[in-house]
Amino acid sequence: MKNEGLAINGGKRVRETFLPYGKQWIDDEDIQAVVSILKSEYLTTGPAICEFEEKIAGYVDAKYAVAFANGTAALHAACFAAGIAEGDEVITTPLTFAASANCVLYQGGRPVFVDIDKETYNIDAKKIFSHVNSKTKAIIPVDYTGQPADLDSIIRIAKDNNLVVIEDAAHALGATYKGKRVGSISDMTMFSLHPVKHITTGEGGVITTNDSYYYNKLIQFRAHGITRDPQQLVTENRGSWYYEMQVLGYNYRITDFQAALGSSQLEKLPLFLERRKKNVALYNQLLTEFSEKDKLIIPFQHQDGESSWHLYVIQLRSECLKVDRDTIYKALIKENIGVNVHYIPVYLHPYYSQLGYDRGICPVVEKIYENIITLPLFPLMEESDVYDVVNALQKVLSYYAK
Ligand SMILES: *Cc1c(COP(=O)(O)O)cnc(C)c1O
Repeated sequence: MKNEGLAINGGKRVRETFLPYGKQWIDDEDIQAVVSILKSEYLTTGPAICEFEEKIAGYVDAKYAVAFANGTAALHAACFAAGIAEGDEVITTPLTFAASANCVLYQGGRPVFVDIDKETYNIDAKKIFSHVNSKTKAIIPVDYTGQPADLDSIIRIAKDNNLVVIEDAAHALGATYKGKRVGSISDMTMFSLHPVKHITTGEGGVITTNDSYYYNKLIQFRAHGITRDPQQLVTENRGSWYYEMQVLGYNYRITDFQAALGSSQLEKLPLFLERRKKNVALYNQLLTEFSEKDKLIIPFQHQDGESSWHLYVIQLRSECLKVDRDTIYKALIKENIGVNVHYIPVYLHPYYSQLGYDRGICPVVEKIYENIITLPLFPLMEESDVYDVVNALQKVLSYYAK
C-alpha cells in the first residue's frame, strides 16, 4: 500500500467507489409509511404530525415537541419564543453551521461568538460569563459532533443572569448528558432531520421543551402567528371559523408524509446509533494502533456526556506534516474517501465580516479549524469502509510526513 502512488499523483485509488461522509438509511417500512399518508385524507396539518411530535417528546423525555419545515426554521422559532428582538445579544459558538447564529439575526439580534474548548471543541463555558451584559438574552450552545456541551455550567450562567438556553442539538439526537437525554435539559432543544443527521424527514426540524409558554409560542410562530384556540382569542369570537393573527409568524409547517417518515425512522434510531458507535470504536482502535498516529488527534470525549456520534472529526498535527489540511483533504478525496470540514468558523464568512466581526476574536477555533477533517461516518457504513478510510489516511499521511 505504502509504495503505491497517491491517487492525486496518478496512482491507484484506495476505493473504486466514492464513500460519502454521511448518508440516510431509508428502508421499505419508511417508504410504506410515506405512501400510506399520500393515500390518506391529509397531506399536511393532519394527525401524523402530532403522532411524530409525541414520539420525539417521549424519546427525549420532554413534555412537548413541535416539528418544523427544517432545523433552521425551528431555531428561528425558538429565538422568537425566547423573546429575542432588535438589539438583543445571544451567545453562541463559532464552530457550527451558520444557522445556529443566523437565527439570531432573523430576529434582529446580534450573535456574540465565544471561543471553543480545545479538547471537546464545544463552546468554552468558562469564557461565557465575560461576554454577558445587560443586552444578553440567550445562549445557544451546540452539541458539536453529537457530544453534549458543558450544559450544567451553561445553565448555571443562564439562571444567574436570566438567560434562555436554546440548545442546538442538530448533531445530538440520542446523546445523553449525566444520564439524561439531550432534549430534556435546556429550555428549548433543536434537532435537525436533514438526511445526514441521525433520522430524516427529507427536510425537517423539531424543538423539544418542558415549558408550556414556549410550546404555545412555537405553535403560533409555525403557522403565521395565527391562533384558533377560543381561549387565546384577544378581541372577539365569531364562531368556529374565526381566527386571529396576533404576531408576525411564518409558514414553517412540516407535512404529514414527512412526519410519518420521521416516526418510522425514529423506530430505527437505536440501531442507527449502535452502528455509528461500532464504527467509531473501530476508528478509535485503528487510529490508536495507527503507525502515523503521531500525526493526528482522535476525538476527545468528556465523561459527562455520551455522544450520539453524528461526526467523527480528527485534528491533524500540522507540525508533523509537510503540507496543510487542504492538501490532505484533496488527496483523500482523490482516493475516493468523502472527507469534509465542519465548520468554517461562522464569523469568518463574508456576510459576518461585513457585519463587523473581525478575524482573531476566537483564536482557539481559528487554529483548530485549519487542522480538522471529518471522516465518513453513517449507520450503513461497513467495517470494510472504515478500513478503507484508515488505509487511505495511512497512505496520504505517510507520503506527506515531515
Ligand atoms: C444541520 C444543522 C442545522 C440546521 O438544520 P437544517 O435542518 O439543515 O435547517 C443547525 N445547526 C447545526 C449545528 C446543524 O448541523
